[in-house]
Amino acid sequence: MKKVVILGAGYGGLTVAHRLRDYFRPEEMDVTVISRERTVYENTIFPALLTDDVREDETRFDAMETMGRRGNHFVEAEVEEILTESNEVRTSKGTFDYDYLVVALGGAYEENFSSIPGSEHAFMHHPLTHFLRIKERLLSMDEVNAVIGNSTGSPIEGPSYQLALIIMHQIRSRGIKGSVTLVTQSPKGVFGMIPSPGVSEAANRLFMEQGINLVMGDSLVEARRDKVITKNGREVESNLTSILPKLSAPKVVRDALPVNKDGYVDVELPSFRVKGLQNVFAVGDLAQGMVQARTARGAMIAGENVASTLGKELKGIQRPLYRQGVLCVFHGGGIAGMLRFDVDERPRVNFVVSPIFTKLKIIYSRLLVRSGFNVPYHAAPTFA
Ligand SMILES: Cc1cc2nc3c(=O)[nH]c(=O)nc-3n(C[C@H](O)[C@H](O)[C@H](O)COP(=O)(O)OP(=O)(O)OC[C@H]3O[C@@H](n4cnc5c(N)ncnc54)[C@H](O)[C@@H]3O)c2cc1C
Repeated sequence: MKKVVILGAGYGGLTVAHRLRDYFRPEEMDVTVISRERTVYENTIFPALLTDDVREDETRFDAMETMGRRGNHFVEAEVEEILTESNEVRTSKGTFDYDYLVVALGGAYEENFSSIPGSEHAFMHHPLTHFLRIKERLLSMDEVNAVIGNSTGSPIEGPSYQLALIIMHQIRSRGIKGSVTLVTQSPKGVFGMIPSPGVSEAANRLFMEQGINLVMGDSLVEARRDKVITKNGREVESNLTSILPKLSAPKVVRDALPVNKDGYVDVELPSFRVKGLQNVFAVGDLAQGMVQARTARGAMIAGENVASTLGKELKGIQRPLYRQGVLCVFHGGGIAGMLRFDVDERPRVNFVVSPIFTKLKIIYSRLLVRSGFNVPYHAAPTFA
């Protein structure tokens, strides 16, 4: 019997756990997920917590229960050290050995946010606690001058777009004074990293029609009590700043696995096997990917590919290897839409704005929560 240990119960780790159980019977494979907390949050819906459409209790599930139902083990523990030479992982609840290891501990959001000068004057629109504090702060303000953006090199801007739209919607619906400035890293503006100029032109128009000030081709480098400093030296007044930091693999991972110049784990694609380590895989926000964006969909596709690779190598079964792309369904308070980017024989881009995506985003989120991230179909193209 093969022993698989999965570190991290997020989108990537739980996808691997579900899919391995689909492909291997309990007597063929023992699967253990180790993660900091048994309560897992569906974080892509967090911006909608600022509206009345979603409640906090609708965003979480119990991963220990979900894994138990699937015949997998779940250990609620802190991962402290990964020892690839002895095939062991040291945790706050003891040491675990493995035949195969899947590292899915997410990106180093907290580590990188705390290194932004003046981060104590800003929120980070990633964890639940910050979204709840942003909501509370917004409700207490009579005038809002919000600045939302990313650190230089941050690989996901979708949450910034949603937060900017929702704050603007709140300002309007409460009838208070205010402004929202959205800083995009690409000089082309919103979704500027997608190789289709028509998309960013349409998206920029949409954001400007909502009254959002766009600062393009810049990023946030420092927060102060009443302003934000950008990479290009702008000083923008702000009484509500939120920044998504640059990402990398967390230190516990960087200490153990090979990383590229940006700090992401170096993997072979499309299998997500760690370079030079035959029995170790790395997926999700901490790993190098096929596209620059680090997304939940990307993490789940990577998880599918790991399970397909093990299915083929250990049992000779054929399962698809997917291509990663970008799917951003955004709920912006008053408006909603979807950006999809996939590379098959050629890049394919869809950008649609419609209120229907508010409902679709919420339905998809519920599906993720109720299934414990067991959503096997990602509509992604496969390798031949
Ligand atoms: C507000 C917001 C909106 C987003 N919207 C979208 C969207 O619309 N579409 C999309 O595709 N993506 C979206 N994303 C991105 C997406 O959420 C991430 O890409 C995704 O969470 C990455 O999944 P992961 O499995 O790599 O890591 P995570 O989901 O972060 O899971 C990592 C797990 O590991 C655990 N862990 C970490 N360190 C340790 C340790 N040392 N010991 C034990 N456990 C540990 C964590 O507690 C966590 O449970 C959004 C992100 C945010 C913040």
